[in-house]
Amino acid sequence: MRKRRKRLRIDRIIYVFAIFAFIVFLIIFGIKSLLNLRIYNSIKNKGSVRLFKQTVNVWKKTETYVNDKLDEVTITYGKNSVTMDSNYFKNGLNIKLNVYKKNIDEPLFDNVKSLYIDKNELLEKSSKLKVKLPRFLYKHENVDVYGIRNKKEIVLLAPKVKVENKYIDFKTNSNYDTYFITYIPGKSISSGNNINIRVGEKRDLNIKVNPSNSTYRDLKYKYDKKMVSLNGDIVTGKKAGKTTIHVYSTIDDISKDIDITIKKKVKEVVKEEKKEEVKETGLYEKDGITYVDGIMIVNKTYSLPKTYNPGGLTDEFMDAFYEMQSAASLDGISLFVASGFRSYEYQVDLYNTYVKRDGKEAADTYSARPGYSEHQTGLAADINAADSSFEDTPEAIWLDKNCYKYGFVIRFPKGKEAYTGYTYEPWHLRYVGKDIAKKIHDAGGISLEEYYNFTSTYKD
Ligand SMILES: [Zn+2]
Repeated sequence: MRKRRKRLRIDRIIYVFAIFAFIVFLIIFGIKSLLNLRIYNSIKNKGSVRLFKQTVNVWKKTETYVNDKLDEVTITYGKNSVTMDSNYFKNGLNIKLNVYKKNIDEPLFDNVKSLYIDKNELLEKSSKLKVKLPRFLYKHENVDVYGIRNKKEIVLLAPKVKVENKYIDFKTNSNYDTYFITYIPGKSISSGNNINIRVGEKRDLNIKVNPSNSTYRDLKYKYDKKMVSLNGDIVTGKKAGKTTIHVYSTIDDISKDIDITIKKKVKEVVKEEKKEEVKETGLYEKDGITYVDGIMIVNKTYSLPKTYNPGGLTDEFMDAFYEMQSAASLDGISLFVASGFRSYEYQVDLYNTYVKRDGKEAADTYSARPGYSEHQTGLAADINAADSSFEDTPEAIWLDKNCYKYGFVIRFPKGKEAYTGYTYEPWHLRYVGKDIAKKIHDAGGISLEEYYNFTSTYKD
């Protein structure tokens, strides 16, 4: 009797345990199925997939379905979503998206608060990102999206992105380690002061919004149309007297009054026509660096000291680049810096690699020797892609036509190897300032060497 009762208890324990194990199995299986069903269903409708964990566990069936039927899949993570090629939609993709708020510790950004997004496997493979903005950003109509390369090179990827119902969309780019989304308020307007002109005379007002990377740099003007006319920033005197041009932003709370004095026309108007002629060499040297007309010259004849290191692309380069990038984006052209500043030491490695591969003679036609690279100036960069595939792309055509307006020249123009010492590089831009860039452009796309009449050849 006693023995039988004991056996019964053991049976019962096993029985209860089996049921318990089965229930646990059902719960896990059920949750997984529900998650996958939800993923599966939403993808079928081309909607988005909502994830509850950091890792997507997808059934083979779902994965096959996605890869067979769709080009792109959108994955929602928390409030944000990422769009990627369906080929990347694989088992166990790490999808943790690191989004956080931080101040931008860069002089030009003045510690403005931003939303940072760190790159990970998911973002690297994505093509588009949709981000929910915090209040300090979504209260603006537009925000800027920046990318950070090599931990320090900051590039404006998408200017003035429209905020729609607290969200923005932007295209991702695998060149960047981190993105940040921000709004840079305009703090002041600067311009040339005390403008004195004669009736019929034109003058550039040189109006700028500070800081130069403000999200809104477009301004409005109020002025007396009887006294002056305005075409962009160029004022023309119409009637003798004094007047004021009121410049203001409709977005940021900034404005400026520019006083203009207009004098009567002088009778004999000196004609300042005639195209600029190619000048005599006016090269001069300072601290081992060669200059002409105030611009630094580096080519195969003139090198930089080993120690010359501006630490990155200079502010004047970046300011001009941002301005050009914004203008290009309005024409549907996306520009970014593919290779910017290179130190002397970096060029040593690069050049030696090429010499090893192709020999010294061949390497000299496309790569600069250490100290002889314009990339060491911090005033030159390769845009988008530094190879022949860039030629004839809409970006290359746009740069060729417009870069001078922002102070850049295509440093190694087509068919100018005899002067520059380098084959055609439609991607290599050099900042020389707007005045000089325009003069060179107007002279018919010639090289700096021709314009200032100096050589570019190695001594040996
Ligand atoms: Zn280059």
